Amino acid sequence: MTAAPDALPPLSGLERANLAWRREEGGEEAPHSTAFDDVYFSRHDGRAETEHVFLAANDLPRRFREWRESRPFVIGETGFGTGLNMLCAWACFAAHAPPAARLHLVSTEKFPLRRDDLARALSAWPDLAERAARLVAQWPEAVAGVHRLWLADRVTLDLHLGDTVERLALLDGRVDAWFLDGFAPAKNPEMWRPELFEAMAARSRPGATLATFTCAGVVKRGLAAAGFAWRKVPGFGRKREMLTGEIIEPAADRRRERTPWFSAPAPRRARHVAVIGAGIAGASSAAALVRRGVRVTLIDREGPGSGGSGNAQGALYVKLAADTNFQSRVYLAGLLHSRRWLEVLDPARELWAPCGVLQLATHEKEQARQARFLAHHPLPEGVVRGVTAGEASRLAGTAIAHGGLEYPQAGWVRPAALCARLAATPGVELRRAEVVGMTPDEQGWSLALADGECLSADQVVVANAALANRFAPTARLPLQPVRGQVSRLALPRGGPALERVICAGGYVSPPLDGVLTFGATFAPRETDTEVREADHAANLAELAAILPAFVAALREAGAELEPGQLEGRAAVRAASPDKSPYAGPLPDAEAWQADYAGLARDATRVPDTPGRHHGGLWISAAHGSRGLASAPLCAELLASRICDEPLPLEQPLVDHLHPGRRLIRDLIRGK
Ligand code: SAM
Repeated sequence: MTAAPDALPPLSGLERANLAWRREEGGEEAPHSTAFDDVYFSRHDGRAETEHVFLAANDLPRRFREWRESRPFVIGETGFGTGLNMLCAWACFAAHAPPAARLHLVSTEKFPLRRDDLARALSAWPDLAERAARLVAQWPEAVAGVHRLWLADRVTLDLHLGDTVERLALLDGRVDAWFLDGFAPAKNPEMWRPELFEAMAARSRPGATLATFTCAGVVKRGLAAAGFAWRKVPGFGRKREMLTGEIIEPAADRRRERTPWFSAPAPRRARHVAVIGAGIAGASSAAALVRRGVRVTLIDREGPGSGGSGNAQGALYVKLAADTNFQSRVYLAGLLHSRRWLEVLDPARELWAPCGVLQLATHEKEQARQARFLAHHPLPEGVVRGVTAGEASRLAGTAIAHGGLEYPQAGWVRPAALCARLAATPGVELRRAEVVGMTPDEQGWSLALADGECLSADQVVVANAALANRFAPTARLPLQPVRGQVSRLALPRGGPALERVICAGGYVSPPLDGVLTFGATFAPRETDTEVREADHAANLAELAAILPAFVAALREAGAELEPGQLEGRAAVRAASPDKSPYAGPLPDAEAWQADYAGLARDATRVPDTPGRHHGGLWISAAHGSRGLASAPLCAELLASRICDEPLPLEQPLVDHLHPGRRLIRDLIRGK
């Protein structure tokens, strides 16, 4: 069954591919699926087969050569397998496309290979070795969902892990050329069902082509019924025939019939984008946009990382709900995304450390919550697992009295340095100024600066945290300021070690540059940023409650654990009422009120009016104290939207982050 538009398959790990390595006559070993009893590719001629069946039959060399669009060329594949097809498509693109062209690969996979199997399978092609290494290095954990990989400056791969039909139904994006792979229909009838072709038709760009190795009747019938024209062409090697074809007319995306308000605004010019706020939300948005060839002016009244992202050290971690909800899914996707993103941005790990995070269950209620979470979420141990107090102690390098959850992918980051690094990305123009107003103009938006100057841009991303709703078009966005203070303790020589970030109520990170950072306080509606001794005392009390043995060892080593002796920093974060970030286009609140007023009387009578937005105005805000996990993913989401690319999240999660979600909820409730 295809998932309903707002339903998602369980948040779980996926079964790995089980391979047998078989040697073909005259060739070398090739992976064979034991579950499907079929080959991934023939070692004998796999490469030539890919080039014939998928690249040539989709006319890719010519189409790449002639690609002049500012958006990327998009390939959609069913069954990523070893990635051979996608690596060959990338090599073909690199050989033929003009230098400014971009390629976006989307591929589904229900049974991902283990990382070492992937490396072994691809080692057959020495000339693909560098490309294969990029893929293997970023190979994600086997968790259902979208995983974005950066293969090269202009080449992105979105791996949609899970069942192909389910995944294509959740995809927010359209494809120019389809590779229909996925084992032979006779061996895998489950995948080649009518819904597959229907989902393809609704995710095709006008003129989208397709190619597949098979000529099975079920494929021909399915394609024709969904609106594709197909024809037989000579197959590869011993296969006499294969299919190629194109969409006659892309099918409408019917998912929006129940939620027209969340319809995407039409793409518009995006040569120059202004980003307001150079914290992690704005700085990562700026870097995501310049990577796509957009000129960016990044504006901050004080400079990069001056607000909530300005700490010297911060934890990259998430707290997932015991029962799956959209917020948890976004945060888990965000954590995995941030991890891969940091690895590519800073492979030397100057700005971060993936040391792992221990989330302790210090009381019974939390123990029960964690047990429930583990029972409901069969995730790989490399993502999250339960640990006993003994294991926690061993992992942390200090005695801990409680068990909890370990997140091996999580860790700590230097947020202030990260923002500075992102703001210094070539192509980002950093401007120290305060934006006090914004009005639409003939170019897009005109920003009024406090010094009386005006700055025009095609589009604007608002990313200034608690101040994000200070402008007329954003004024209706509910945002709450939350003051938070961290404490910093200079460690004496010979102080105790701490190998993991530990969190319970607050958090403490492994020492960095001889300083232990811990906190943070959480004071909703408070906006002053003075450092307070009372907050240091609260942070110390929390630290002593979570890690008494560690604190005793600190004292013994001579650490000055007095509130008056601590350094610290306070900043204001922003939170939304439902505690999920805002990432998306700014709704035109008055237009929504006019268009959707009838919902208060009868919520089932949904008008077919697409949501009207303040065109070219976007927001990334309300990241609370988890911005390191959410902001980089939201930056990709916005940049992908602005540049008309497939999105890095399932559509229901994209909707969950929509800045108009509260507005429409209130309209439906008649508020
Ligand atoms: N394109 C691949 C390559 O370049 O190596 C070869 C693909 S292999 C022939 C078929 C792939 O489809 C396998 O990796 C298999 O796990 C995957 N697959 C099979 N059924 C699937 C389904 N229902 N959803 C997603 N992937 C599926």
